[in-house]
Amino acid sequence: MRILVQKFGGTSVANLECMLKVREKVSAALDKGYKLVVVLSAMSGETNRLIDMAQKWSPRPDPAEMDVLLATGEQTSVALFSMLLKDKGIKARSLLGYQIPIQTDKSFGKARILDIDTDRLEQMLSRFDVLVAAGFQGCDCEQRITTLGRGGSDTSAVALAAALKAEMCEIYTDVDGVYTTDPNICSRARKIPKIAYDEMLEMASMGAKVLQIRSVEFAKKYNVPIHVRSTFSDEPGTLVIQEDETMESAMVSGIAYDKDQARITLVDVYDEPGIAARVFEPIAAANIVVDMIVQNPSREGRTDMTFTVPKSSLEDTLAIIEKIKTDIGARDILADPNVAKVSVIGVGMRNHSGVAAIAFSALKNENINIMIISTSEIKISCLIEEKYTELAVRTLHEAFGLDK
Ligand code: ADP
Ligand code: ASP
Ligand code: MG
Repeated sequence: MRILVQKFGGTSVANLECMLKVREKVSAALDKGYKLVVVLSAMSGETNRLIDMAQKWSPRPDPAEMDVLLATGEQTSVALFSMLLKDKGIKARSLLGYQIPIQTDKSFGKARILDIDTDRLEQMLSRFDVLVAAGFQGCDCEQRITTLGRGGSDTSAVALAAALKAEMCEIYTDVDGVYTTDPNICSRARKIPKIAYDEMLEMASMGAKVLQIRSVEFAKKYNVPIHVRSTFSDEPGTLVIQEDETMESAMVSGIAYDKDQARITLVDVYDEPGIAARVFEPIAAANIVVDMIVQNPSREGRTDMTFTVPKSSLEDTLAIIEKIKTDIGARDILADPNVAKVSVIGVGMRNHSGVAAIAFSALKNENINIMIISTSEIKISCLIEEKYTELAVRTLHEAFGLDK
């Protein structure tokens, strides 16, 4: 049995007209002899609408009930699309996360997939030609509905492709591939024909939301080839695969940005063993993801500690810090939600020096101040004022010759 997984994002299922385009893609794959698992997102804007609604109704929406609510977005999509397939005489059925089942842990809102019942899926694929699976959702061991975090349908699709050993996981979206940077903010961005898992992982981790990070981790772990392409054209897109010698080993392959950052500075905390643990342990216990961290050199036994968290976690983090403020000796706490992170990514950096200097001088030429710098083997990230994000991305894109 040749199995293909196709995932269609929110803009691809936004209305009837779009869903008819999706049906054409599905029919074309059936004509080639594939059995299909089609993973759908909620219709564009629907997840945001549901989040807004919950926030209006409840000051702190219950996380478990929030997942029950958000999962309805994908439920609507799979029901409507399955109707369209059946109208064409295609043997299809819809499947919600708990019906597959996609077993997850209990972290509502950011659940991780633990297991997928492959035997059941294979049995169903022998009876149906297309299984239309709701993306973004699963269920925990107590049959409670969970969701996988924003953009989670990508992860549903890759996990299903891994479980079924599908030939390919096609991710259909509103751009026709992975670009050197977000084509919606830089008109000179270029499509990358092939990209290695590690590089894609850095791009996604640094904010390129074209693929959810977890989906790339899964693809790498189970060696699932991903093809990112457009629902609205037949152009080949970008293959996300294992690194091979035919890949361009450019020094820099892409620029990413992440506006979902907020900065907190703890002013004049004691500079002694255990203070960092005292700060970051309760933050971790609250499931808050800390990103960049810097500590200034000590002066008279005191130091400043600066770190970033997602904007949506700023208030919770400040509440935690308030409780330990006296213990750690902080004289002040500064918070700034108007920051963004821009990152330069490339596996070629491993063998080149001077990448950081090029990035810093490009930002300097535009008078953009760098607040925090962090690096890994294949990326350099700078925290800047949010209002300069687009300018910084375009400037770095040009400085590294990616415009050409
Ligand atoms: P979907 O709803 O199909 O999942 P997303 O909005 O999650 O689509 O992801 C597609 C978007 O990702 C594009 O519209 C684009 O703005 C953004 N994006 C960010 N960085 C990149 C990049 N390097 N290449 C392509 N798209 C990118
Ligand atoms: N509907 C969810 C979201 O908007 C999941 C997804 O689209 O991948 O984040
Ligand atoms: Mg997405």
